[in-house]
Amino acid sequence: MQPITDNMVQKKALRTTFNPALEDIRMSPIVSISEEARTRSQEYEKSGRKFVFFQRGEIDFPTPAFIVEAAKRGLDRGLTKYPKSGGEDFFKDAVIARLRADQGITDLEPGHVVATYGGQEGLELSFKLFSRGAGFSPTWSGALENFVPFAQIDFEEVPLNRDFSVDYDRVERAIQGRDFFYLNNPQNPTGKVFTEAELLKIVDICTRNGVFVIADEAYEKIVYDGGHHYSLARVAQDNVITVFTLSKSFAMTGWRVGYAVTRHARIAKLLRLGNYTQTAGVTTFLQYAAAEALGNIEESRRAVSAMVEEFQRRRDALYEGIKDLPGVVVDRPAGAFYMFPNFTDVIPRDLAGEERNLWVYRRLMEQGVATVYGSCFGHHFTDNIRISFSATPVPLIHDAAERIRGVFGRR
Ligand code: PMP
Repeated sequence: MQPITDNMVQKKALRTTFNPALEDIRMSPIVSISEEARTRSQEYEKSGRKFVFFQRGEIDFPTPAFIVEAAKRGLDRGLTKYPKSGGEDFFKDAVIARLRADQGITDLEPGHVVATYGGQEGLELSFKLFSRGAGFSPTWSGALENFVPFAQIDFEEVPLNRDFSVDYDRVERAIQGRDFFYLNNPQNPTGKVFTEAELLKIVDICTRNGVFVIADEAYEKIVYDGGHHYSLARVAQDNVITVFTLSKSFAMTGWRVGYAVTRHARIAKLLRLGNYTQTAGVTTFLQYAAAEALGNIEESRRAVSAMVEEFQRRRDALYEGIKDLPGVVVDRPAGAFYMFPNFTDVIPRDLAGEERNLWVYRRLMEQGVATVYGSCFGHHFTDNIRISFSATPVPLIHDAAERIRGVFGRR
């Protein structure tokens, strides 16, 4: 028999576009910013000064050794088989115990917890439950670029006030006829930590209007000045889905382990099915290590507070360094590791569009400081930039602040 060759087969043209759920995903501009930063840094560092990568959401701490050791133990114990659907019992037990210890929650059961690949999968699956949503602007770019198109969500951005306070009437108007409100706390990119009163008021508005809340608590443990994070998992209502991750709190970004908590039985089941369909469950020995991270409360609290203390030193260095810039409004973040200053009174009035959006970003890039321009975080805070202090030691932050003052210190 002769092999079939191309020219023997009658060919119909292949389709050239695919499922919109994937076609509509946009690559984050942060990726191209990072590429530009890498290229520029080579040239810049020839001058003998260090380039500052303030655009990164990565952490420069290693995963605490006790968690790494637990992963090795998990392998030694043969935890290499298919995971249990929705998460291993030991993992769910550790989640429940930790939420009891940190948040005083006492009513959770294993059926309320679903293990996921990071916050990313928990959020993606939660968005996928619905078709119409809303959430604050500015917001984490991943929600806008990835989850909204992947779940084909009609999404409305609800702007925070200029000082990042909440306009409740606006929230109430925006959620009419919608399925869910996405609420990230502590917030990327502002570093805002919502108070208990603010959170409960938003939940109340949602509850009164038959709307779910998707709470994204990726930065739950990164709170400054001795402040406390109020988790929406405390709200024992079936319209709340809370999504957690070990990425930021335990310096485990590459491990891809997180979990969703909801008391809504059907939603918990759908999240389990979604997770199973996508990945057949989170790697078993990683769940084992994650259970150690959550369950070894003493060790992990020690590791987390050492990290948070360092982040706080970095925040203080940055804030002190740029807070008095003329015309620049700088809010001191209470959590996460981002600062989101506003430059409206500094950017030339006649600039518009991309030229305006990139004006501050470009001037800082020329000085060897990479940041992220505000339009990456939605439509409403395009005169802001995000500065991440997650991976830059204090002395280099001082140096960077000096460069920023060099550009914007005089008018
Ligand atoms: N939510 C927010 C606000 C984030 O910034 C991130 C990561 N940058 C995540 C969720 C997801 O984190 P991961 O998938 O690593 O758990």
